Amino acid sequence: MRAEEIVLGELLEFEDGRINLHGRRLVLHSLDAFAQFRKDLVGMVGLDQARRILTRFGYFWGQADAAAMKRIFEWDSLTEWLLAGPRMHALQGVTRVQVKSLEIDEAAGRFRMEVVWHGSGEAEEHLTALEKSEVPACWMLVGYASGYATFCMGKEVYFVEKRCRAAGDRACTAIGMDADSWGPELELHLPYFRAEDIRGTVRRLTEELKRKMRELARERRRAARLEHSLSPYVEVRSEAFRRVLDLAARAAPFDTSILITGETGTGKEVIARHIHKLSRRAAGPFVAVNCGALPETLLESELFGHKAGAFTGAVADRVGLFEQAKGGTILLDEIGDISPAVQTKLLRVLQEKEIMRVGESVPRRVDVRIMAATNRDLDAAVREGKFREDLLYRLRVIEIEVPPLRERQEDIIPLARHMVERLAQTLKMPHLRLDATALDYLLRYPWPGNVRELENALERAAVFSGGGKITPECLPPKIVHGASIATGIGDPTRSLEDVEREHIRAVLARVNGNRSRAAKILGISPTTLWRRLREMERAGGNRQVHRDLPAGRVEG
Ligand code: ZN
Repeated sequence: MRAEEIVLGELLEFEDGRINLHGRRLVLHSLDAFAQFRKDLVGMVGLDQARRILTRFGYFWGQADAAAMKRIFEWDSLTEWLLAGPRMHALQGVTRVQVKSLEIDEAAGRFRMEVVWHGSGEAEEHLTALEKSEVPACWMLVGYASGYATFCMGKEVYFVEKRCRAAGDRACTAIGMDADSWGPELELHLPYFRAEDIRGTVRRLTEELKRKMRELARERRRAARLEHSLSPYVEVRSEAFRRVLDLAARAAPFDTSILITGETGTGKEVIARHIHKLSRRAAGPFVAVNCGALPETLLESELFGHKAGAFTGAVADRVGLFEQAKGGTILLDEIGDISPAVQTKLLRVLQEKEIMRVGESVPRRVDVRIMAATNRDLDAAVREGKFREDLLYRLRVIEIEVPPLRERQEDIIPLARHMVERLAQTLKMPHLRLDATALDYLLRYPWPGNVRELENALERAAVFSGGGKITPECLPPKIVHGASIATGIGDPTRSLEDVEREHIRAVLARVNGNRSRAAKILGISPTTLWRRLREMERAGGNRQVHRDLPAGRVEG
């Protein structure tokens, strides 16, 4: 059998008011009724969900037709069976199909077909019921073709409509390929073929919202802390950080965009707030958003706001962060994480000084200074095609690189003292202070987590000190241990006694102050250890070199 030989009249039987396609019952529908149905569907569940439902409807239809064609006829070839799909589509009055090309490699499972749909009934429906579409709208056709070809090939095949009459084109054209042959473009279309667990989605979104609320609360607390950390200024001793502050001060008065780079924890947001404070916008709001923390769709409505009904769950109009930052500054943190779609929208904001709320088509002017921060190499991201070059140029009118803490070692002690003073206030520990022995460790540790790691280490140490002196034993073991590995034993200018003392301290810190375990590691008896500790205590005057730490420590 060949596809062009199919005649509908020979396939159908009319009996007792039924139309049978070789045993399968068919029902005729009015195109106008279907148009109304489409309109209702879009109105009730939104464009995206309607598209999904209709695509899947077409898909089942296509599969059913492919199965019927297999059952009824003996085909000359796979090609003929495949071509019977468009033929059936046409015979059933859905659309006239012109097959532009068809390439199949059965062994490799490769499939590629180009079709033109003339006079698509679905495009007509769409134009009747709704207005001109922004995207191709022959969703059932796409579903049908995909379902039919998938059934024949025994392998996932997807059609994508490229041009559509409902979107103002002269005819509808579509390309179908097996899933492997499609590139990343397929990702955009796949969701329309998949059923959605709506309740699951609502649950997921609710969870996401809760997480976001917690995140925001955390951010707010952090912001309050940062605010505090800038006044009074911590003494800056390093040349590297002084240069950063100088550049910040010089850039502050101008409204240019600034890109702040640096490793995680170096205090990029502190610098951004500092610039804001020094700028003419100081009286306006400072809004920081962590772009990496939110999924694309939420980020978009978070940044630009949305119109009620723009998507499922958008019950009321919402003002985005760009609008909230009016007259002030917005900091887009972790800018390297944003998706291409949001990159494009941001570029528009930078170029036009306008935003559009999700679901709106009228632009709104925004008066905001934009700063961005990242710990990623954006030049590399541009080379890899993951970040728009034009956007990078717009963001990086001025770049400020915040050095890692290990490159501004001179600042560690003033920073640590300042943090301890602040902890004394916030933790209500008026006698909290740093012991000189702990400072050495702070200076020797490389601080991969930078200022934030220092802050966390000191906060933990403050808790373990019980509000008194912060000694090395109170510091996280990896700092004491890491520091002694890094510099301790190999230093040829130190005395044996000094090295031994330090090693004992490190081991004690490592085992959370447990003396018998420490003695075992050191290879001495607990009594010898006790004696050494007493000697050390005496050598250090009343300096406390060891204390038993509370049980249940979790870090290590
Ligand atoms: Zn179309």
